[in-house]
Amino acid sequence: MKIKRALISVSDKTGVVELAKVLSDFGVEIVSTGGTARALKEAGIDVVEMSDYTGFPEMLDGRVKTLHPKIHGGLLARRDNPEHLKQAESCGIGLIDMVVVNLYPFEKTVAKAGVTEEEAIENIDIGGPSMLRSAAKNHASVAVVSRPQVYPSIIEALKENDGCLPVSLLKSLAADVFELTARYDAAIAQYLRGPQDRFPGRLDVVLSKAASLRYGENPHQEAGLYRWEGSESAATLVNAKQLHGKELSFNNYLDLNAALENIRGFVRPCACIVKHTNPTGVAQAKTLDRAFHDAWQSDPLSAFGGIVGLNRPVDAKTARALLKSGFLECILAPAYEPAALALLKAKKNLRLLQMAAGVSADPQAWDAKRIDGGFLVQDKDARDAAAKDLKVVTHKKPTRAQMISLLFAWEVVKHVKSNAIVLAHGTATVGIGMGETSRVDSMFMAVKRAGRRSRGAVLASDAFFPKSDNVALAKKAGIRAVIQPGGSIADEEIIRAADKAGIAMVVTGVRHFKH
Ligand code: 5GP
Repeated sequence: MKIKRALISVSDKTGVVELAKVLSDFGVEIVSTGGTARALKEAGIDVVEMSDYTGFPEMLDGRVKTLHPKIHGGLLARRDNPEHLKQAESCGIGLIDMVVVNLYPFEKTVAKAGVTEEEAIENIDIGGPSMLRSAAKNHASVAVVSRPQVYPSIIEALKENDGCLPVSLLKSLAADVFELTARYDAAIAQYLRGPQDRFPGRLDVVLSKAASLRYGENPHQEAGLYRWEGSESAATLVNAKQLHGKELSFNNYLDLNAALENIRGFVRPCACIVKHTNPTGVAQAKTLDRAFHDAWQSDPLSAFGGIVGLNRPVDAKTARALLKSGFLECILAPAYEPAALALLKAKKNLRLLQMAAGVSADPQAWDAKRIDGGFLVQDKDARDAAAKDLKVVTHKKPTRAQMISLLFAWEVVKHVKSNAIVLAHGTATVGIGMGETSRVDSMFMAVKRAGRRSRGAVLASDAFFPKSDNVALAKKAGIRAVIQPGGSIADEEIIRAADKAGIAMVVTGVRHFKH
């Protein structure tokens, strides 16, 4: 496509002189707004001033410069439609073949300290996006250049094609525009809603493919892995380094994510084993190998084929414990000591993942779940149990050791699918009941898994006990202390039952549903 007339109106003047020179050398007529025209003229380039072109002054402090039928008609007229061309001609509208525009720097302006609302509003570009969008809509006949980064390739293409641009370029230039204006508008909306609005009217999330996966949850489902664009953080699972083993599967990623979320909550050496996104066991101990041993013992039957998350570099002792435990799918850790790595690599298929930036930082403060036709978005459940939120509601107070154990179980229960019941001794789980549709059934599962170890254990429940039947079960299982949110209409009856059973009960006032 031959370029005969180009409209150039840019805030960021980087590289614009070079581009305009090349256009001018090919005999292109250049029309420009005030500041841009000045910059080009100073460089000795022939320019037609916008106000001369439209026959209208640039007015209202630059709010109206290019919003004129001579501009938008010239951009939007279809070249393959004789009626369009006739109408344009009869109104004295000349065709514009190229638009080079970049916008008032709204995001940069509002990021400045002490920016006034007036300054922010004046930096909302109106004419620029309008021209970009008009040109992009008519990309079949108009080239639209919306960022200085592409000038070199445009110059190259013009030179290679004797002042023409290949039609194949035009569509992708237009796509650039709609992405740019969508982001620009989203930034404005976010500014107007104010910083307290975490979930504005529009969420601009651009995802780019990180990997093709062999299949999805099942072999007949195709699948891929995507990462947030612009989030190349080494602290995220998508960017974790695989040191060994078979390619990660769709389900591996899901389970690794669950393991990571689990261990993130702990400061001391901690291990978590995950199956089907739920922990089969979690433990915190003086050493990592001990933590793993305890986590495994929580439910050895379920742990078979599990995914292990560790929050400390893996040493040789832990590696040996991992190998002894039986079949594991993946291990995720911040690092592996060389001896440990050598031992673990002996297992051909064992996938070893390294999160070099550590496992404690959580760069994403929000969470999304997909539903039919959209996403639900929420803050992450990052609420820790603060001492001031805790209230002992029974006559019996938990001992210091029980309190440590209760707080441990409370942190674990946050990562277990509701209805969730966690039984613990010390800082190791001994029975977890998850995903049941009634709290009583979750309790049954937790107690069954704990076996004799339920005696003397503490219990955490992710949501309040709806009835005192849970307390009756806890008593029968030999549970000594309970932590739960409280807030049920049956609270009084529940507390009375706990008192009668000699169980200490702590309420948190915070719920940890996980669906
Ligand atoms: P210049 O520095 O050439 O005077 O202005 C260039 C800037 O003005 C570009 O960022 C362009 O997007 C913007 N612009 C062009 N036409 C209009 C208009 O009619 N209204 C507003 N608000 N901005 C415009």
